[in-house]
Amino acid sequence: VEAVRQAVVLVGGRGTRLGAIAADTPKPLLPIAPGVAFLDVLLGELARHGFTDIILLAGHLGDQVSARYHGRAVREASVRVVREPAPLGTGGALWNARAMLDPWFLLANGDSLFDVNLRALSMDASPEFVGRLALRAVADTSRYGSVTLDGAKISAFREKAAGASSGLVNAGIYLLNRSILDFIAAPCSIETDVFPGLADAGLLQGRRFDGYFLDIGLPDTLRRAAVEIPQRSRRPAAFLDRDGVLNRDFGHVHDAGKLVWMPGAKEAVRRLNDDGYYVLVVTNQAGIGKGLYDAEAMNALHRHMQDDLAAAGAHVDAFYHCPFHPEATIEVFRHPDHPDRKPNAGMILRALRDWPVEREGSFLVGDQPTDLQAARSAGLPGFLFDGVDLADTVTAARRSVGRSPASIEEMAS
Ligand SMILES: [Mg+2]
Repeated sequence: VEAVRQAVVLVGGRGTRLGAIAADTPKPLLPIAPGVAFLDVLLGELARHGFTDIILLAGHLGDQVSARYHGRAVREASVRVVREPAPLGTGGALWNARAMLDPWFLLANGDSLFDVNLRALSMDASPEFVGRLALRAVADTSRYGSVTLDGAKISAFREKAAGASSGLVNAGIYLLNRSILDFIAAPCSIETDVFPGLADAGLLQGRRFDGYFLDIGLPDTLRRAAVEIPQRSRRPAAFLDRDGVLNRDFGHVHDAGKLVWMPGAKEAVRRLNDDGYYVLVVTNQAGIGKGLYDAEAMNALHRHMQDDLAAAGAHVDAFYHCPFHPEATIEVFRHPDHPDRKPNAGMILRALRDWPVEREGSFLVGDQPTDLQAARSAGLPGFLFDGVDLADTVTAARRSVGRSPASIEEMAS
């Protein structure tokens, strides 16, 4: 199965519980900072996880959604807006966009954020199920209605019931097969009209995640979003060299046929994703300056790497490359000592400007002394990879900078 690249977001709901603040603005477009809508945050999350085709299902006040987002690019992703002709419920809204749907796609609520590894949800799509729901554990399910998980399968949905009890609830993010359309008739709600029947038929899976969750449906939670989302988005980064760290260094690797992953590399990236690190690759690519291949060939290789990572439940947030070299044959790339070319720190410094990186806990892993020099120049600890198992090296690096998996769990609790 090909990597899931499509994400569909439900943005048509009415923010009735928000009262006057949502009277003239679709709920997902409400600002959480000057000029920043809640939906901007959500789209940034989808884009950095490698979803490149984003479809917004708009309804109520949909002209504002179209005006702001249709045709827009978010990192590598492009955004399209589909407007339902009349309120159709979440099922009807999806049906209305049926001609655009990929065989597998992610469906997410536009008014909530669940900070989890979205690639872990969208890996291993299989014909054995029609949908897989991201679930979260809560102390009191009575507000939501609970979900019963039996291994990977969801065996039952229970309606909202009086009395507090702990359990798993639907977090509003799903991996779906297009065949879900066979179960949708007329205007309906996917959550209440479609999922229970699919669960009864054994066609629904669930996966528990323990990430931060916020729903902006209430004035109080909307205020919290403005404070908590900027805090939560500041997190440490793992800077990784590419050749000799992620893939075997055969010298100027530039096509997928020559891609051999280093031992433990995909596992290392997945664990970093699970624990909320930004994973940023910084790679010297003098081969471009020397005319051995071009940036498009390199980008194609990186897309291929992202597909392999997606199959392993992982993703790289961004690749930074430096085509400059003192002996470049292509003149525009000839430079005696370009600030981006490692051992200089230019790529790392640029990434630190582009992403809300918390320096505390951040580090670099490389296989050459020049990588470590670049890290030092950027003021970050650097670790040498011996080629044995990248997951082990990254675990040791995290322990060394004081952000072991255990200490992160402590922070979260
Ligand atoms: Mg290297």
